[in-house]
Amino acid sequence: MVELSEEQIKALQAKLQQIAGLPPEEQNKKAMEMLSPEEIEFLKSQQQGGGQCIFCRIAKGEVPAKTIYEDANFLAFLDINPASPGHTLFITKEHVQILPQLSDELGAEALNIIKKLATAVFEGTNAQGINIMQNNGSVAGQAVPHIHFHIIPRFEDDKLKLDWDPIKLSDEQFNEVQKRISEKAKDIGKKVVYDMSGKMIEEKKTKKEEPKKPEEMPRVRRRRA
Ligand SMILES: [Zn+2]
Repeated sequence: MVELSEEQIKALQAKLQQIAGLPPEEQNKKAMEMLSPEEIEFLKSQQQGGGQCIFCRIAKGEVPAKTIYEDANFLAFLDINPASPGHTLFITKEHVQILPQLSDELGAEALNIIKKLATAVFEGTNAQGINIMQNNGSVAGQAVPHIHFHIIPRFEDDKLKLDWDPIKLSDEQFNEVQKRISEKAKDIGKKVVYDMSGKMIEEKKTKKEEPKKPEEMPRVRRRRA
């Protein structure tokens, strides 16, 4: 696997930006002129998830798996270390590390398939419940750095522990964390389109009511006895 230093990666990113600004039909030719063999190797290995990614290898059929579902973009197979019988993993065939990196299109398609897969797992195992888990980052328990969803059938007395002891937050802490996250969430409904050079060319806001501020919420009136 090709490794580049931070400096080299920065230089490569600058070149890629320059290439992205060109008309599509010129991009390939220019890339071959501008990029060194090491840089091309590095990009290839990135696209293939380093060539070592176990889920990429399963997606390519290089490593066998007990397949449950497959289409052009996705694959579902039984987890080799199951939490319960029927524990299924759903992955993208493309090497995407974490959820925020997934395209809107694939994300929407994925949820649609997961919904149906969860039903199949539920019915196929006579489960009483289903957990769907998706971990991002090793600190969150993501064991393989390739996006995957766990679909875990649940049974009475299966003794599986997926719960947590709740922590106590003060009102102030709740308000602070609400403020920080909602600030980051405020543009979620916006549709932004970029051109090849990364310039924003379109910005649409989906029709959505602005959430009311807490002080504007109508008070619940007590009914007089
Ligand atoms: Zn991968």
